[in-house]
Amino acid sequence: MGCKVETLADRYDLTAPGSGDHSLDEYLVARWTGRDGRSADGYKSLTEWFNKRVLKELYAEVDRETLGVHLDREYELITGDDDVAYDELAAALAADGLDVERIENELISWSTMRHHLKGCLEADKNTNEAKTDWESNTVEVARQQTEEKAQSVLSSLASKERLADAESAEVDVQVKLGCSDCSVRVPFDEAVERGYVCEQHVSDEDEKETTVDSWKNTLSSVITPYGAVEAVQCLILEEPSLLETLLLPAF
Ligand SMILES: [Zn+2]
Ligand SMILES: [Zn+2]
Repeated sequence: MGCKVETLADRYDLTAPGSGDHSLDEYLVARWTGRDGRSADGYKSLTEWFNKRVLKELYAEVDRETLGVHLDREYELITGDDDVAYDELAAALAADGLDVERIENELISWSTMRHHLKGCLEADKNTNEAKTDWESNTVEVARQQTEEKAQSVLSSLASKERLADAESAEVDVQVKLGCSDCSVRVPFDEAVERGYVCEQHVSDEDEKETTVDSWKNTLSSVITPYGAVEAVQCLILEEPSLLETLLLPAF
């Protein structure tokens, strides 16, 4: 059983762009790690790229315009918050025989892309750095433990009928760092990689104190209304606010 990325890649016969020397998976890993010589892409841009490929295939099936500019704009409408524009597009798609809800169901979330890269493909972005970077390792170990703990209570929640689709849910724990001066929040890894939390509010002074300890003061978290997951966090972490937990339907 493949994950949703694999299922869709098979269904729509998705391949890597270009000469065809690489498989789609090799292409995704190369872009994610930056091994293709360009700067490394995050899950979000890979997810967007992948979803647009799927959208293009869906459009092609009904001979709808698939030029990049149309596709980009319509992808934004499908995934955006503009309800009026969304409804108009839904009607236009329906006229072409496309159900907008079916399209949305075919699109993947960035956590699915992350799971595909790190789980299915066991790709690793910072193989060399990770071994010596105890700060990041500590956070990563705590993150994985929380993910495992949360996963382990899901079947119990399902059997008690407290969470209907618990068994098929994918647990996604992410550690984010927040700026103390504005609403900017970035994934922990990303902040460490680029060397600052907030571009706008990083000052020379802040840079000098950029240690995990000073970050702890500005960590923010959003916790889902799942009491059990919150409890798990408290059990295993001294600092439960370090972690953000999201429960997402797998597909
Ligand atoms: Zn996968
Ligand atoms: Zn800021």
